Amino acid sequence: MDNDKPTSAFNNIIDKGKGLFDDIRRNCGPKNLLKKDVCCYCGKNILGLHYIDLYGQKICASHPRHLCISCCSFCDDKAIMIAEGKYLCTNCQSYHTTLKDAKKIIKMIREHYLQTGLGVIDRFHLEMVSVEEMRQLCQPISAGDVLGLAMYNGRRYDIRVIRNLSHTAMAGILAHEILHIWQYQRKLNAPQRISEGFCDLGSYEIYSQIKTKHAEVKIDMLQKDPSPIYGDGYRIVKRYFDKAGWQGVIKKMEGYGSL
Ligand SMILES: [Zn+2]
Ligand SMILES: [Zn+2]
Ligand SMILES: [Zn+2]
Repeated sequence: MDNDKPTSAFNNIIDKGKGLFDDIRRNCGPKNLLKKDVCCYCGKNILGLHYIDLYGQKICASHPRHLCISCCSFCDDKAIMIAEGKYLCTNCQSYHTTLKDAKKIIKMIREHYLQTGLGVIDRFHLEMVSVEEMRQLCQPISAGDVLGLAMYNGRRYDIRVIRNLSHTAMAGILAHEILHIWQYQRKLNAPQRISEGFCDLGSYEIYSQIKTKHAEVKIDMLQKDPSPIYGDGYRIVKRYFDKAGWQGVIKKMEGYGSL
């Protein structure tokens, strides 16, 4: 390891073996990842037509192909439906993130953001909700796929996240929502896709600290996201970040301030 590099809060935790991200370090979602030609659903050898997920995990074409809401791998036959159309794979079922874990993750993200020059981000309240409660909250604007939400009601800053996420997925969502709070607290008013792209850059930053296959897949998904708001926004902000770093991006964002 390069000793001159500042160590992030994430490296410290991982080096000390505290195990917060063990969910994906040990057996990253897909249980049959190493068994190249075995179906992740029925466990039999893949013979005919099949599909491959982002982890390289295969599934026979005859099975249902539900993607896990947390790790985005194909769900196995013991996956559970946690809300209409939303599934959780067996592996992610066993890594239910508690409020205590989420707060630990927030602390690490805040420490890491401090090092990037984003400054202190605090004074927000966290609540974990079910997929169903999140749907209620997001109606009628958005349906289904919202995993996290940041809000400011003029008095209080709030973050809501769904509770059925692995620690890695939780870290990515929280990293995104915390950067919304950062924008609210500075009264910035960037165009929506820049605002969302900036938040996704935060997810990228945190995923790249975790350095596991699960985090790698999440980065890949950010990069390939077809959404004209999130995906395009992320690619614009990321390109700028590659040139100008966090200092450049922060300066650019601050240029959208105050009303
Ligand atoms: Zn099969
Ligand atoms: Zn999963
Ligand atoms: Zn957002």
